[in-house]
Amino acid sequence: FLKGKSAIVTGSTSGIGLAIAKALAAQGASVMINGFGEAEAIEAERAALEASSGARALYDAADMSKPDAIYAMVERCHAEVGGPDIIVNNAGIQHVARIEDFPVEKWDAIIAINLSSAWHMMRAGVPHMKAAKWGRIINTASAHSLVASPNKSAYVAAKHGIAGLTKTIALETAVDGVTVNCISPGYVWTPLVENQIPDTMASRGLTREQVVNDVLLAAQPTKQFVQPDQVAALALFLCRDEAAQITGANYSMDGGWTAA
Ligand code: NAD
Repeated sequence: FLKGKSAIVTGSTSGIGLAIAKALAAQGASVMINGFGEAEAIEAERAALEASSGARALYDAADMSKPDAIYAMVERCHAEVGGPDIIVNNAGIQHVARIEDFPVEKWDAIIAINLSSAWHMMRAGVPHMKAAKWGRIINTASAHSLVASPNKSAYVAAKHGIAGLTKTIALETAVDGVTVNCISPGYVWTPLVENQIPDTMASRGLTREQVVNDVLLAAQPTKQFVQPDQVAALALFLCRDEAAQITGANYSMDGGWTAA
């Protein structure tokens, strides 16, 4: 149902972003993927997206902490595949430390990549969407857009910021056929999470089950990880015409975390 549409997904060389890019491409959208990684692996993903969509797939290496690179990426998308009709602001990083030990440059990087990049993406992309009278913006927030955890001051501040930014731009674009929403996952099963398990087992002397249930999923009542494909399915729904009246919303997908 997305034939003829174009999408940019930031931070889509792995994890949730890649799952969303695949879901959009499977519906026929041209997709521009973005993020870091090995050139060969990225090219393989790009080619697979093109094969699946029957439309073009592009890769742009824009660093989401660099506004100039963000504006250039949006204009490149417009010039090469049109739009962007769909923007998924998904790139994100994390750093865990008490505030008194938190490196200033980590605070600056997290605010830049997890929050300011979405603002720049929308500032660049909204005029194209308004001109087309159609647009979908989906921001990957987090359960941490609604609740806090200690030692994640920059991440929690950025994700709460994304939730407010989403509502604001939803209001600014409400009569233009553009919707702006965010998705707030709990713990999602990505390589990032999986790779923490052996270290935590070793450092705390725990079994794999203990790390999963008592550490990683301590706050998630279902005791199951969210899967990237589940986040992608919701993102895809938000692109449908049936979702035209959903705007300014923050959808939790957190196994009950923020209900507790
Ligand atoms: P991931 O590490 O697998 O993916 C992050 C992506 O962002 C990668 O493609 C990476 O290359 C890219 N990236 C990082 N820094 C960048 C930069 N400066 N410029 C451009 N790209 C950059 O992580 P993920 O779990 O898929 O996370 C995706 C989003 O989901 C993030 O915003 C994260 O905060 C959010 N999220 C993740 C979880 C989880 O449990 N994994 C839960 C809630 C929210």
